[in-house]
Amino acid sequence: ALYRTAQDRGIDTWLTNTAAKELIVEDGRIIGVIAEDTTSGDTVEVLAKAVVMGSGGFNSNIDMVKEVRPDLRRHRILEGSGRGDTGDGHGMVEAVGGTTTHMDDIWFYVFAIPDHKDERGRRGLVIRGVPDNIWVNAQGVRFHNEDLSGGGTGSVAVLAQEPAYCWSVMDSTMTDDVTVSDPQYYIPGASVKDPEKVKVLIEESPHIKSGDTLEALASEIGVPEDTFVETVNHYNSGIDQGLTEDPDFGRPLSNRKMIQSPPYYALNFTPTARKNFGGVKTDLKCRAVDKHYEPIPGLFVAGELAGMAGGHINGKHGLEGTMLGPALFSGRVAGAWAAKDAGFGEGFK
Ligand SMILES: Cc1cc2nc3c(=O)[nH]c(=O)nc-3n(C[C@H](O)[C@H](O)[C@H](O)COP(=O)(O)OP(=O)(O)OC[C@H]3O[C@@H](n4cnc5c(N)ncnc54)[C@H](O)[C@@H]3O)c2cc1C
Repeated sequence: ALYRTAQDRGIDTWLTNTAAKELIVEDGRIIGVIAEDTTSGDTVEVLAKAVVMGSGGFNSNIDMVKEVRPDLRRHRILEGSGRGDTGDGHGMVEAVGGTTTHMDDIWFYVFAIPDHKDERGRRGLVIRGVPDNIWVNAQGVRFHNEDLSGGGTGSVAVLAQEPAYCWSVMDSTMTDDVTVSDPQYYIPGASVKDPEKVKVLIEESPHIKSGDTLEALASEIGVPEDTFVETVNHYNSGIDQGLTEDPDFGRPLSNRKMIQSPPYYALNFTPTARKNFGGVKTDLKCRAVDKHYEPIPGLFVAGELAGMAGGHINGKHGLEGTMLGPALFSGRVAGAWAAKDAGFGEGFK
């Protein structure tokens, strides 16, 4: 849609496979971008009356995540945002005097396993679709109501474990439900699960263990056998007795499946950085501001790079779906004011 609109308006500068590297400053005003053609390696210089940046968040740069979250440095944390979202824009804006805010407000998903195909060992695969799994920590015990799996609940619970990961335990009746939120595991061209690919993942991934007995699974995942078996049996007994709620963590148990049909499986759930709530600080016209909150002439910032808008429009927590809306909105605001700055239109009305 963006490309078509640009074509309709006669905009003929359209660069793909081009990574922005540096903003060009002249007399205190941003007048363009130095970029690199990632195919040829050539340097490209683009001059403009105003620059709008929208390079997304930084959750595909785990070093940057750990820089702003020193409390997580000793844990394994995975990358989980769009693959190009490596925080380039934050550095470019800071290099010209812009400021960032609330950078440590990061939304983690914990229902994710390391992607064994990522040679760097840094990328996470988000796993969904197994409502009857239980979460067991490295000590072999449950610690949370697994139904509360979101960034403000499940993530907080897993990040409080020592070490900060858990095992999603399920049995053979549940593995068909596993869905992997990653195009590698979709039918090509559709956002629909390819069951065969997921099956192969379950068989091949070193981060998914299985065992014909609970004892064997405990040994595979390195937790104390007796404790683990007691954890699963105790949980199952609540369902077996017809309890409506798990007495330990308040999980509703009605219509819940017991974990009782071998083989058993355990997926190594590892915190995965998904969404950035903080970013480049801007004013209401989406102009990047310096440390005195004065706008940097010619520089506009929108989307996740600007914490969706302004620096941190979502606050510390967001609901699912509260990113795309403000990203689009701030893009419109930034675009309209950048156009006005460049001599076109009346700004955002
Ligand atoms: C898997 C997944 C599912 C999501 N689902 C939802 C959802 O259902 N609802 C919701 O509200 N939000 C969702 N989000 C969050 C939402 O997608 C993002 O917050 C939103 O896309 C941000 O938009 P953006 O345009 O700011 O950045 P992005 O969409 O991340 O786009 C930034 C682009 O800039 C490029 N880029 C980065 N650096 C450079 C550079 N130096 N030079 C050139 N280009 C660069 C990146 O490659 C990327 O293409 C999801 C996020 C993920 C990862």
